[in-house]
This record gives sequence, C-alpha cells and structure tokens, in this order.
Amino acid sequence: MHRWSWAVGRASAGALLTGLLFAVAARAGEPAYSMADFGRVRKFDAHVHANVEDSALLAEARVDGFVLLSINVDYPDFPPVPEQARIAKALAAVDRARFHFATTFLVKGWIEPGWADAVNAGLTKAVADGALAVKIWKNVGMVEQDAAGRYLSIEDPAFDPVIAHVRDLGVPLIAHQGEPYNCWLPLAKMSTENDRSYFAEHPQYHMYLHPELPGYESLMAARDRFVDRHADLPFVGAHLASLEWNVDRLAAFLDAHPNAVVDMAARMTQLQSQSVRDRARVRRFLLRYQDRVLYGTDLTEDPGAVAADTRREAHAFWSSDWQYLATQETQWVPAIRARVAGLALPRAVVRKIYYENAERVFLRRR
Ligand SMILES: [Zn+2]
Repeated sequence: MHRWSWAVGRASAGALLTGLLFAVAARAGEPAYSMADFGRVRKFDAHVHANVEDSALLAEARVDGFVLLSINVDYPDFPPVPEQARIAKALAAVDRARFHFATTFLVKGWIEPGWADAVNAGLTKAVADGALAVKIWKNVGMVEQDAAGRYLSIEDPAFDPVIAHVRDLGVPLIAHQGEPYNCWLPLAKMSTENDRSYFAEHPQYHMYLHPELPGYESLMAARDRFVDRHADLPFVGAHLASLEWNVDRLAAFLDAHPNAVVDMAARMTQLQSQSVRDRARVRRFLLRYQDRVLYGTDLTEDPGAVAADTRREAHAFWSSDWQYLATQETQWVPAIRARVAGLALPRAVVRKIYYENAERVFLRRR
C-alpha cells in the first residue's frame, strides 16, 4: 500500500545537510523576528475551541493576524457536539478566510450495530459543510469501557470502518491520545503549573489516582501501532502527541511515522521547561522537524465567557509564544517559574511552524 507521507517526511542526508546550511545562512544573514513583527506576520492557530457564536477569539485573531482551526470534540465540559458543530459552521460562514473547523463524532454507542454507519454519515455531512479534519479524543483509551469494564482502545476494530471513511474523505485525523506525562505523577511532582491546575480540577483524568487504567506507555504504544497500521492516513498528533516531555522521544515518533505531524497545543510550557535545561536541544529539534510541527494553543472560548477576558487571554498567550519561538527575548514564565530565553528560530522556520505547515496539512488538501 502506498505510504502516505507529508511530502517532506524523510529527508535524505543531502537534503538534511542543505537544510542545515540554509538554516545557518538564514541565521547569519537575517536577524530573528522581534515583537514588532508579531502583528504583521501571517499566523495559524491550528488548535482552538471557539464554542461561542459571537466569538471574541475570532475578533482577537483578526487583530493579531491569526487564522483559526476550531476543533469540535466529544468533551463533557464543552457544549454538546451538535451545538459545537452549529457554532463552527456559523463562524465559518461569517469569516471563511480566517475561521476553519474540525468535526468529531460521538464514541458512545460504539458497541451497538449501525454505530459506524451513523458516524460516517455525520462525517460526510460535516466535511461537505467545510470541516477540514476529524478529531478523536482521549476518551478513547481513558474513559469509554465495554460491559466487561475493558477500556476502549483506538486499535479496536469498531473504529476500522470510521478510519477508512476518514481516509476516503481525504481529511486528516487529529488524535488526542493519552495525556501529558505529568498526568501519571502526583500534583507536587508535575513540571508545569498548567498541568497541575488542570489535573487538580479534573481528578477523573489524573491518572496517578487511577492506576487501574491503561498506563502512559501502553497508551503511547497503542497509538503508535494505530498510526503504523493506517500509514496512508494523514495523522495530526495533538498536544505534541503526548510526548511533550522529551523532544528526543518526539523526534523518534516523527521519524517512525512519516504520515504524522504534531500540534503544540497547550504544551508550550513543556518545551520551555526543556529549553531552560538545554535551549540548544529544543532549538535543534524545531529546526530538524520544521515541516512537522504546527503552532496551536488550545485557547477555549466557553459560553458565558467575558469577551474582554477572552481577548486579553488570547493576546497574552499568542504574544508570549511568539516571544519564545520567534524572538531572542527572555521572559518570565509563571507556569514553570523560570526565565525562558527566546529560541529566535530562523524566519523561514517561524513561517512554517506558524502558517505554512497548517496550510499544507489542512487547507491545500481541500
Ligand atoms: Zn483541545
């Protein structure tokens, strides 16, 4: 079977050397971006959740120069999936150039006959409505159980007809499988405040408290076998594919799976934490995988959110991330209680991570 690859998946040694020389030349010849460039460079946040029809997130995206991919997800804290779909379609109709969305499906009922047919009919309609991808969430692997108490795995044959249909529709699968490594640690041992507060508020997902559930390595292994088995499926590993804690481990995942890219959503502090220990290592990783990493935040706008707060939060996240990735400025990052020096990535690399990769993965395939 033809192995689906992100065109630039496996670079030959020659191409890699050329790329490195180019990067060095770019670094020598051209200064890194500054904060003054933030507003004027075209950017793509490939992982947000706009769950409000009058979206302040979209308003801020216009000011800050972002295109958005809003991801519908089977998450009980969010509005019901049909309501998320309605909102996404309405926002896309208002601003077709700037607002895009990914659809999802309900896992509930996966054991019933006819479930896959109903899911596939829904996906067909969503893609006809403009959905650019399909999301599968961590409830597969960590929440849903069969009658015998066995946790549903992404490898379950129940998904086969659905995955085949996603492939036929020609859209990528965005998969959030597993959780950050911190999830299996006690709160006090977690490396970032954002993980600590999320798992303090969501003890049901804090796996340190649930040793009876599938463990981290078992979830990663199931996901890896899944990506292997569907090598012709464009695959987006959300949240740095839950390998956020170690860029070498993430590099091995990308090397092994040419059909995969990853988004950075809600895992920037994990990269920064590695940066504090060894900035050159993180920088080297992003240079080497400059075609495989997509900028994303996980910024979420819930019903009832105060518009001014949403806009302030979005602007703060977006500018802080720009400062880290694109500039050489140092900033204090409260979530890891550390001063973090900017990576000052070459401009061409910044444009890939911030726009061109997402454009290739989501827009050009349409
Ligand atoms: Zn998300």
